[in-house]
Amino acid sequence: MLPPLNFRLRMMLLFCFVVGVLMAITCATVYSIFAKTIQAELDLDLVHAAKPTMADLSADPQKDDISELNLQDQMLLVFDQSGRLLNRSKNVDPGMNARIGPLPESRSVVFRSLDGPHGSVRAALIPFETDHRLLWFVIAQPTTEIQYSEWRFRDTLFGIWVLSLLLTAAIAAWYVGSALRPITDLTQRAAALTETISDPIQTGRLGSLPVTNPNDEVGQLANTFNALFDRVDAIVRQMRQFVSDASHELRTPLSVLRGETHYLIEQERSPQEYQSTLRIIEGELAALTRIVEGLFTLSMADAGQLRLSVEPLYLDEVLEEACGIAAPGARRKNIRIERLGWREAPFAGDQALLRQLFLILLENAIKYSPPATTIHVGIEIFETRLRVTVRDQGIGIAAEHLPHIFERFYRAAPDPNEESRSGGLGLAIAQAIIRAHHGTIECTSKVGEGSAFSLWFPAESTTPSAERVHTLA
Ligand code: ADP
Repeated sequence: MLPPLNFRLRMMLLFCFVVGVLMAITCATVYSIFAKTIQAELDLDLVHAAKPTMADLSADPQKDDISELNLQDQMLLVFDQSGRLLNRSKNVDPGMNARIGPLPESRSVVFRSLDGPHGSVRAALIPFETDHRLLWFVIAQPTTEIQYSEWRFRDTLFGIWVLSLLLTAAIAAWYVGSALRPITDLTQRAAALTETISDPIQTGRLGSLPVTNPNDEVGQLANTFNALFDRVDAIVRQMRQFVSDASHELRTPLSVLRGETHYLIEQERSPQEYQSTLRIIEGELAALTRIVEGLFTLSMADAGQLRLSVEPLYLDEVLEEACGIAAPGARRKNIRIERLGWREAPFAGDQALLRQLFLILLENAIKYSPPATTIHVGIEIFETRLRVTVRDQGIGIAAEHLPHIFERFYRAAPDPNEESRSGGLGLAIAQAIIRAHHGTIECTSKVGEGSAFSLWFPAESTTPSAERVHTLA
């Protein structure tokens, strides 16, 4: 099997094939028109040349000039109606008679091409009357010259055909090559960029491909690549940031654990000291577990593997449950949780995940609010959507932080309550859960006045279905 041809060669072959076929058809047509035209001219010449001799014969049938004639390029014969040869010029060879064949039935001029020992000839069979008799005058002329002209013309056409093919191949090679050059450049630049991606030491930007003309196909391809590179760049950076943040978050509880364990085993301690240190260890382990579980949930969500156990439920009930769980924490800070526009809100979703989602928002609201404030929790039902709102009178979030608060480990403000550390994953998990339910999360906030988190759920999900797996974008 032949190896696959490259694009340039394939295009060259295609161009040559198309031009070759078109030129062949054109040359064949021109050649056949040329051949027909010169034959028609020869036929006309024969008839013209026959006229004077035929006029003589008609005037005086007894006159026998023909047998005296020995023209170099014209042979003359006279037949009677039955096909008997009456007369012929000297240069007519004996076999000519037979080669002419039977006389035509009709009384019109007939032309025939005859092959002979000295090459082919063209003959005109012309009927004429003399003495009330129908005779046939045959005038023939060798076609050697015509054939020679035809061959010359055919050779010229063939030469033109070959030349046009060579020219087409050269133009195609040049044109396809220059058309592909930007793509070759792109490929080389993209390959160079791939090297930088796979280079673990390289931490800078991926760079971008040159865009010579943004309106042509190559420019659009380069733009698409650049958008892709930007996206990959952002993801790579995000991943690096994530790994460094995750290790940082894990390092803190781990170093506390190491310190406390060292403190315990360093020397004999009192039972009270054992108890208080173990309580610290338990707290740190709980924080570690929360972070690891959060990371697991997010990695499942990233892989589209977050399994939802969807069931028919009422969002107001799940929210009520979450408020109940959050209530002791709120009470400790003298914070009131007030329900607004409480409505029955049927929905199909994963109860445990939805409870976790509401708890994240409620616990954040408590965490970032000063004591003796109020948290308003509301449910609204629109035609196609449901909205759950958690509004607090807390510290608020500055505008420059708002676009980032759903990123992993992002913190707009230091955690005011070290014990309830969620590791900066709370809102990222909340976003993953709402997306798994085909909803969205929004936040509006003003520093010093408070924040409002809105959860939008699609109303069509109120028709519950059996357990299913939701894929996250
Ligand atoms: P964590 O609360 O563990 O830091 P989150 O992902 O839950 O992580 O929140 C990310 C950041 O968003 C928080 O660090 C905080 O700065 C800000 N934030 C979240 N909720 C609120 C809120 N209700 N009021 C003010 N800031 C908030």
